[in-house]
Amino acid sequence: MKDERPLLTLDEATARLIAGAQPYALTEVETVSTFDALGRVLAADVCSTLDVPPEDNTSMDGYALRAADVPAAGTVLRVAQRIPAGHVGEPLLPGTAARIFTGGQVPPGADAVVMQEQCAALPGDGLGSVRVDAVPRAGQWIRRRGEDVLHGAAVLKRGARLTPQGLGLAASVGAGTLSVLRRPRAALFSTGDELMMPGEPLRPGAIYNSNRYTLRALLQAAGCIVTDLGIVPDRLDATRAALREAAAVNDLIVTSGGVSVGEEDHLKPAARAEGELDDWQIAMKPGKPLAYGRIRRDGPGAALLIGLPGNPVSTFITHLLAVGTVLRTIQGMDASFPPGLPLRAAFDWSKADRRREFMRARLNAAGEVELFPNQSSGVLTSAVWADGLIDNPPGQVIARGDTVRFLPLAELIHR
Ligand code: AMP
Ligand code: MG
Repeated sequence: MKDERPLLTLDEATARLIAGAQPYALTEVETVSTFDALGRVLAADVCSTLDVPPEDNTSMDGYALRAADVPAAGTVLRVAQRIPAGHVGEPLLPGTAARIFTGGQVPPGADAVVMQEQCAALPGDGLGSVRVDAVPRAGQWIRRRGEDVLHGAAVLKRGARLTPQGLGLAASVGAGTLSVLRRPRAALFSTGDELMMPGEPLRPGAIYNSNRYTLRALLQAAGCIVTDLGIVPDRLDATRAALREAAAVNDLIVTSGGVSVGEEDHLKPAARAEGELDDWQIAMKPGKPLAYGRIRRDGPGAALLIGLPGNPVSTFITHLLAVGTVLRTIQGMDASFPPGLPLRAAFDWSKADRRREFMRARLNAAGEVELFPNQSSGVLTSAVWADGLIDNPPGQVIARGDTVRFLPLAELIHR
């Protein structure tokens, strides 16, 4: 059965996904320890209640002094105090120096630090004295109060996903807990009578279920709580039952396979029976068919459904582009299509497709983009070899040296 409907552009599909997901925006907020907040999405700005650093401090081991007290190399100053990191010194008297260690607070009155490599410690009473062998410039080796963060600044914004360095920054302004959105709840199932689980001996006609692993990990990487319903057989009643079970407690249902128009493809009829379906054909390659809909539940609302095509590379790429858009939208994040990087092609491509194509590619040492030789949507090896996708417009041939648009996979996966 051939499907003759006009194709939707990916931009149009993205706009519809965003508009359709907006009413599902998550609102429940949780307070979590900053230790446990990796990957969570901030529900409020993190504002600093202090300057960072809180006071001027030294970035070198050496001597804090007044630059004006050292008009020439070889000047000798009495060492009047010693300031390790974590200690506060006394105001610096004119004509004296303070022995100081990296992170130590610069005492009032000092305006420069001379690194110990440019000084000679001279023994004597008390802390002795120091010969300064380089003429200092006022301000040198001093990290200024507030040079990283000013009191009141919003260091992390609402809607931002917390990275390891973001957790560090939150901690640096004293935030021991953070206000984050609850995690999205996503259900997952794979359709296909040919599917078996790794670990079982493969029976004739069967293949191992790879999409289950890819999708589960992608959903987890995006911060979801995943309910994995496993493999659902190619039967209407079983598919309907799986959709009903998934819709009961989840925000989103992601499935793979069964979205073509063959008589073994039950996802779309099942979705129509259990809710509403927008049956899309998108002008993209791989991943033309996509089932998008809403599945009823007994309680209020409905669960969003995205039925991805079953070929493993199609599954991977449509997840990144479609499910990623929905997950970002419901978490209040910018879900506009990633712009990609303009880079030079290290290959020729004469097989232009009528559809916008997402090709498995990677950067070479010269900073150009190479293409995986087999671009078939069943060849998952290509997605492992690649570190990005080329976003190639419809009908576009590519000659070596042309500029192409490169979407880094790491950015798409953690977008
Ligand atoms: P479908 O979209 O169900 O027509 O499947 C398209 C192709 O993808 C077929 O060759 C399926 O065997 C394959 N496929 C479907 N689901 C999976 C899966 N979970 N893991 C690996 N391959 C799959
Ligand atoms: Mg199938």
